[in-house]
Amino acid sequence: MNDCIFCKIAAGEIPSTKLYEDELCVAFNDANPMAPVHFLVIPKEHFASAAEVTADNASVIGHIYEVIAKLASELGISDGFRVVTNVGSLAGQTVRHIHFHVLSGKQLGSFD
Ligand code: 5GP
Ligand code: ZN
Repeated sequence: MNDCIFCKIAAGEIPSTKLYEDELCVAFNDANPMAPVHFLVIPKEHFASAAEVTADNASVIGHIYEVIAKLASELGISDGFRVVTNVGSLAGQTVRHIHFHVLSGKQLGSFD
């Protein structure tokens, strides 16, 4: 997508601190971390949110969870982390390219 910042990060057109990359997805540190560990995992394919998961694109979600487990192990946070994906304005989604926040490194608060 032309004006999508996460597509640009995936393409390397906007710099980011990448933790992992393969043909399907990219993981990079969040620019405004909410916890000592806070990274995002995105598919390289653009779709807006978890509300747009279909039979055609669902397999990348499982792959992303596999990457999250691998990175959690490497970062030493396997015993406690949170995965969040916001959908739409009501949930506070600001970037309309599906992404999974991974947070850890402190006691995390409860949900709204
Ligand atoms: P959302 O609110 O959409 O669930 O989360 C978007 C996240 O993307 C925010 O936590 C924000 O800090 C992060 N973010 C927005 N723009 C950039 C950027 O250009 N680079 C990086 N690394 N993170 C970004
Ligand atoms: Zn995009």
